[in-house]
Amino acid sequence: MSTYRVAIVGAGPAGYFSAQALQGLSNDDMAFKVDLFEKLPTPWGLVRSGVAPDHPKIKSVSKVFEKISDDPNFRLFANVEVGNDISLDSLKEAYDAVILAVGTPIGKKLGIPGEDLRNCWSSAEFVPWYNGHPDYSQLDIDLSGRRAIVIGAGNVAMDVARLLAMNSNDLVTTDISDGALDELHNSSIREVWLCARRGAEFASFTAPELRELPELKDTNVVISREEISEAIARAGNEAERHVKANLDAMQVIALMDRREGNKRLEFHFGYVPKQIRGTSKVESVVFTTAQGEVEVEADLVVTAIGYEADPEWNLKLEGSNFQNSDGLIEDNLYTVGWAKRGPSGVIGTNKSDASSVVEEIVYRLSGCKPKSESLRDNLVENLNHIDLEEWRQINEFEIAEGAKVGRPRVKLITTLEMIAVAKGER
Ligand code: NAP
Repeated sequence: MSTYRVAIVGAGPAGYFSAQALQGLSNDDMAFKVDLFEKLPTPWGLVRSGVAPDHPKIKSVSKVFEKISDDPNFRLFANVEVGNDISLDSLKEAYDAVILAVGTPIGKKLGIPGEDLRNCWSSAEFVPWYNGHPDYSQLDIDLSGRRAIVIGAGNVAMDVARLLAMNSNDLVTTDISDGALDELHNSSIREVWLCARRGAEFASFTAPELRELPELKDTNVVISREEISEAIARAGNEAERHVKANLDAMQVIALMDRREGNKRLEFHFGYVPKQIRGTSKVESVVFTTAQGEVEVEADLVVTAIGYEADPEWNLKLEGSNFQNSDGLIEDNLYTVGWAKRGPSGVIGTNKSDASSVVEEIVYRLSGCKPKSESLRDNLVENLNHIDLEEWRQINEFEIAEGAKVGRPRVKLITTLEMIAVAKGER
């Protein structure tokens, strides 16, 4: 029996599904000891800091992650930053294989003038802000104006627009960060424009998310009937199923009676962003449209136009992800998830994606002599980290705090608080 040691970097869905695939491929000839490294004191990646707080069902995948963690050959090294607390090269030396499951954390830039004005945020900042990510929860997001413009037509743009346009009382039973909930309660934003650069038939958001919108009690959701009829005509009978489903769902909204909502969520298609204007902060966005240039007043802008891998890894990039061949980057270094294929797909997509990379790893390892256990033990023995039991302390603490106020959890939002709870100092 050969026992191989695998380091996985990044404790989001792709990291956990890689561990699960390794567990599933263990047999009488081969076994795998998995060490999962995570920069934050808390695991679960985008399930904790990306998924919208009003989508609790999607977060229930964390139960699967906890089951994966129960395996005796699994260890968590949270609060360890690879590249800072421990080098990637040392992991490559000490482990038989290293899997980078570090996502694509950098928000893409529009590359237009004014993008750096105050109160213009990327979804890579705005989403972790409302989800209580310790690096973003203190951002000075200003919701004191009347109109927000969200640029992009994917599910992230949809999450951001919905959160801004919904009644914040409907968020009090979620795990949104306390700070963001307070800001949203006090928000003066009354109008949210979701601006797509192409027609409705090209929108990337999906029908289930659209079908939620008519349920928003206090929000008048507005889509132009004319725009949808034209998009249906342009898409034609041969349109793909998901396009038809999207257009059907948008038509239902377009045909809805207007309600006297306290807030308004408007969809605008064919709005290509050209410039963001303002003196010290965002004041308007200029769009190129089929009708010519349009300048729309705005107090807050959020761009939700996709993500890219972090260049600080000093690995070659190919589009938004690390250059790789079916997950292999180089030597014994692999990648999975968004870092491998770019920011696409739902959480479950990472399961099949990780399985295929892990099959390749196992194929390449079979017949090779495993590296010595002492190499790995020497590397990690002095790491000041949060282990599985300590993470469970944080998890139980947050859930217990939530139970007191009828919420699934109350998130700790600073690394210091998290460490204090993990180490039993609070
Ligand atoms: P996305 O689906 O790729 O959407 C990106 C959007 O940005 C597209 O509408 C794109 O328009 C637009 N865009 C790109 N560059 C632009 C530019 N320069 N100017 C204007 N618009 C621009 O990405 P995402 O919304 O970040 O989502 C990432 C992945 O996570 C997706 O697979 C998504 O489904 C998934 N996700 C799922 C959920 C859920 O299941 N509820 C929630 C959140 C995210 P073009 O099409 O014209 O390029």
